[in-house]
Amino acid sequence: MTERRSGRAAAGTLRQAREAVAREAWAEAYGLLHRLDPRRLTPDDCAAFADAAWWTTHVEESIVQRARAYSGYAAADDARRAAYSAWMLFYEHQLAGRAAVAAGWLRRARRHLRDEPECVEQCYLAWMDTEAAQQRGAFDEAMASARRMAEIARRCDSPDLHAMSVQAQAGVLVARGRVADGLEDDRVRARLAGLGPVVGQHVARMPYPLINTLFDDLVPAGLHHYWKGAFSYGLPDGAVDAFVEYGPTTPSIQSVTVVFPIDGACHRVRPEDTAFSYRDADYSIALSPTLTTREECEARKDWVRAYHKALEPHCAEGAYVNFMDADDQDRVRANYRGNHARLTALKRRYDPGNLFRLNHNITP
Ligand SMILES: Cc1cc2nc3c(=O)[nH]c(=O)nc-3n(C[C@H](O)[C@H](O)[C@H](O)COP(=O)(O)OP(=O)(O)OC[C@H]3O[C@@H](n4cnc5c(N)ncnc54)[C@H](O)[C@@H]3O)c2cc1C
Repeated sequence: MTERRSGRAAAGTLRQAREAVAREAWAEAYGLLHRLDPRRLTPDDCAAFADAAWWTTHVEESIVQRARAYSGYAAADDARRAAYSAWMLFYEHQLAGRAAVAAGWLRRARRHLRDEPECVEQCYLAWMDTEAAQQRGAFDEAMASARRMAEIARRCDSPDLHAMSVQAQAGVLVARGRVADGLEDDRVRARLAGLGPVVGQHVARMPYPLINTLFDDLVPAGLHHYWKGAFSYGLPDGAVDAFVEYGPTTPSIQSVTVVFPIDGACHRVRPEDTAFSYRDADYSIALSPTLTTREECEARKDWVRAYHKALEPHCAEGAYVNFMDADDQDRVRANYRGNHARLTALKRRYDPGNLFRLNHNITP
């Protein structure tokens, strides 16, 4: 409920919200900011609200709040903050597939920074210059922009943007075919050397938050999915036959057959030592017809069901739970195998009322 009437209560809520933002307690901050009359919020509050909404997956609301922050900064002639807000709006709209709106925000970001002395926000523009030039195949220009980004980040003392500029430079080198030069970590390079002909790869240091965005361009928000999953031991011929049979009828460019290796550290922990019981499997397979409308997705469910059925005899019964859809609730027991009884005992003890039930549920 919006706290419009009592000024004192609202001031208290705003103070708590700002404290929650400072602690990066995003869910708490989001709940508190939501209760306030938007007219009480400064541009900084709106920017924090945008962050809190984003971290709690309310992306469209984050865009609304970011636009409010932008208006406030622009009205106050705060060029750097206005430019940063505009850049964030460019980025979010671009991820959502609204290319024309995104381009408009990028132009605004540029306009605000045009007459500013060197500042860290200019890194974001140099980054986009790098990507645009790289996409045109203008690799020298792309590298010059990525180096400019690095220089600005270094002079403005921003380790995060400097790390991203290193990644951008590595990306340009790999894109122009200088794969070995682009792989800046010698240990990684040594491990990959001689494995076989390189079809395509991207190895570079990157900040952790960037890793969370790696699938964003591939799978923008708003698409419809219907998942089936499986685990396999090795890659049996029958599974490969299913890939060969169903791969060519994949319904759209975003639809997926993903085969993730499960190895390394994951295998060094025993299946009974944590909730996840398929630590000994070799691959996680994920399938989905991913389409732009619910109707199209409904229409292609048969494709993925038949595909999964063809894989089933060659795979284990379980699957990562986020690759199981709503009608796979009966596979939960198979997924947790020998750990299911212990997990049920824990569920009974700590969540007997089944408050946490939106995922594939272990019933109390
Ligand atoms: C490499 C890997 C990739 C995966 N990828 C996917 C995927 O893509 N999709 C998917 O659906 N699933 C995936 N999973 C499985 C998924 O991570 C698990 O099913 C899920 O994490 C289980 O959640 P949990 O909260 O029950 O247990 P956990 O995530 O195991 O959390 C248990 C927590 O309890 C802590 N703990 C243990 N003992 C104690 C103690 N005595 N005192 C205090 N704390 C303790 C542990 O440190 C841990 O933080 C993956 C698992 C691995 C290992």
